[in-house]
Amino acid sequence: MRVIFLGPPGAGKGTQAAKLAAHLGVPRISTGDMLREAIANGTPLGRQVEPLMERGKLVPDDVLIALVGERVREDDCAHGFILDGFPRTVAQAESLASMGLGEVSAWSVFQIEVPREELLRRLSGRRWCPRCQATYHVTSRPPRQEGVCDLDGTSLIQREDDKETVVARRLSDYDQQTAPLVTYYRERANVRRVDGNRSMDAVLEDLKTAVEVPA
Ligand code: ADP
Ligand code: ADP
Repeated sequence: MRVIFLGPPGAGKGTQAAKLAAHLGVPRISTGDMLREAIANGTPLGRQVEPLMERGKLVPDDVLIALVGERVREDDCAHGFILDGFPRTVAQAESLASMGLGEVSAWSVFQIEVPREELLRRLSGRRWCPRCQATYHVTSRPPRQEGVCDLDGTSLIQREDDKETVVARRLSDYDQQTAPLVTYYRERANVRRVDGNRSMDAVLEDLKTAVEVPA
């Protein structure tokens, strides 16, 4: 089972990818989480990408392609995986197609659609645990104790790139560089449009049903 989530920042890709991965028993590959972890660990990759990410800029394709190319070859990906945040450019999609992972026509490709005002509401209220990367929302998915991660008690923070000025740039990069992927995949796969402007559970139910139906 191989799954790709397309959709703008704030659409709920990470939230749904985590739940669907648990349901299917396959790993979720979140490139954003992998890069943030590299930054937290101060690795050479982390030092390279930090100035780009905090300004909301996309990280160069070759960096992402190498990162994902390695990750999908790990043993836990043998029976499938869910990609969250990759590909984000046509060049990344083309590289993914040449990684020897089979025809994308057999994959599940989801396009999560959410109106722009709701994206802004979600991104401005998103809170994040810098230790375990769990994601919350101040009103839609509040932690049990305000400002504290349910899972490990760490203080939650707002991501630098979720601040208002940076969000504008990310959404415009999405329109220019990532939205064209919808056309790319429509020509090659069965892209399923999902109304993401509903409760997290309602969206998840649709995804669970859709993955059971062959592409
Ligand atoms: P993405 O990975 O697409 O950027 P996230 O999954 O991180 O999106 O969700 C963005 C924010 O919106 C998070 O704070 C999350 O808790 C919240 N969120 C996700 N799905 C929903 C939903 N269906 N309704 C309301 N809020 C949501
Ligand atoms: P969101 O959940 O809001 O869509 P992510 O956590 O997926 O954001 O990504 C955060 C940042 O990480 C991006 O703004 C970008 O700087 C970098 N990044 C993640 N995935 C990619 C990718 N596939 N290509 C380029 N940059 C990426």
